[in-house]
Amino acid sequence: MKRVVLAGAGHAHALVLLDWMRRPPRGAEVVLVSPQPRAPYSGMVPGWLAGAYRFDEVSIDVPALCAAAGARWVEGEVHALDAAQRRLVLADGRTIDYDLLSLNVGSTLDPPTAPGATLLALRPLARLQARWDEVLARWQRAEGPGALRLTAVGGGAAGFESLLGALARLRELRPDRAVEARLVTRSASLLPSFPAGAVRAAEAALARAAVALQTSAEWRAEPPRGDDDRLPARELVLWATGAVAHAWQRDPSRCSVAVGEAGFVRIDDRLRSVSHPEVFAAGDCADSAPPLPKAGVYAVRMGPVLAANLRAAVEGAALRRYVPQRRFLTLLATGDGRAIAARGRWAAEGRWAWRWKDRIDRGFMARFALR
Ligand SMILES: Cc1cc2nc3c(=O)[nH]c(=O)nc-3n(C[C@H](O)[C@H](O)[C@H](O)COP(=O)(O)OP(=O)(O)OC[C@H]3O[C@@H](n4cnc5c(N)ncnc54)[C@H](O)[C@@H]3O)c2cc1C
Repeated sequence: MKRVVLAGAGHAHALVLLDWMRRPPRGAEVVLVSPQPRAPYSGMVPGWLAGAYRFDEVSIDVPALCAAAGARWVEGEVHALDAAQRRLVLADGRTIDYDLLSLNVGSTLDPPTAPGATLLALRPLARLQARWDEVLARWQRAEGPGALRLTAVGGGAAGFESLLGALARLRELRPDRAVEARLVTRSASLLPSFPAGAVRAAEAALARAAVALQTSAEWRAEPPRGDDDRLPARELVLWATGAVAHAWQRDPSRCSVAVGEAGFVRIDDRLRSVSHPEVFAAGDCADSAPPLPKAGVYAVRMGPVLAANLRAAVEGAALRRYVPQRRFLTLLATGDGRAIAARGRWAAEGRWAWRWKDRIDRGFMARFALR
């Protein structure tokens, strides 16, 4: 019996378990380790921030999925990977030995400390839930003078969509209060990897929501007004800059598989570590050559290949190649019942695009409704 350990309940592992519900690998004991029982689906997070979905509608029930796939769920966080011993060390000191390991632990962010601001990092997504609920509760009780300053730092899809979603929710909850919003990005334009039509539509959506756009700009904390820590007195910041590898991946004393300069696990076109063939990695935590953008759509497309390759590795069969798609559809919610659709150089915008996005995202999540 081989022990297959899945570290992280990311998009790819969720799809691996779904696949193995139908066809489990023969002769394998499967263990999944993740710190939280629910795994958010990133595509629906801005809609959840906007109040269009409940958290349980945008997140997968990990213990239930594991049970349905015959896997054991271990609540825990990887602290170190000792590839020579084939052993994971968890943050609480427990260890898990493996014959085959698959990493799908996502990425994180490196926000600064900002005493004058309430800072919400958008990764890891699972931690965002409690913080956002707390912000909404404080906002509902908010008294005192002045407008709330809401800032998103990062001009990619996550910063743009999350800002508009969060802004819509804050305004809906307290129509009696003013919210001044801005998006600050270091790059020269909003959504640098999107076609020109999508950028224009995104700028128009920001203008409709009265959001100031600051490009080629660095975020600096504004001094708090007064000395209280109530929300209108402080700036609320959504931190959505580029993805960073987890600290343990960046520390050679805690991670003995080959990683690139930024700490992402280096994989080949079979999703296998270039240094340790019994270790696989997928999604944001991994880098192929050349590296792919850190987007959930790649993690999702890697899922079925990873399921097939882990099964093949257990059963001694040949591995499949993962070929990344060059173009894919992106749908960006604008928080007002509309969305922007983009594919290649094509872009369009409207209420129909939001209905389309909603249908696709609900369809994805419906695959994990196990009853
Ligand atoms: C607000 C927001 C919106 C986004 N919207 C989109 C979108 O619309 N489309 C798109 O393509 N991309 C989107 N992205 C990017 C997307 O979130 C990521 O690319 C995607 O989630 C990566 O998926 P993954 O499977 O690699 O990991 P994740 O889905 O991030 O999952 C990582 C898992 O690993 C677990 N984990 C983390 N650390 C450890 C550890 N030490 N030990 C064990 N488990 C651990 C986590 O708890 C989680 O279960 C968005 C990002 C953000 C922040």
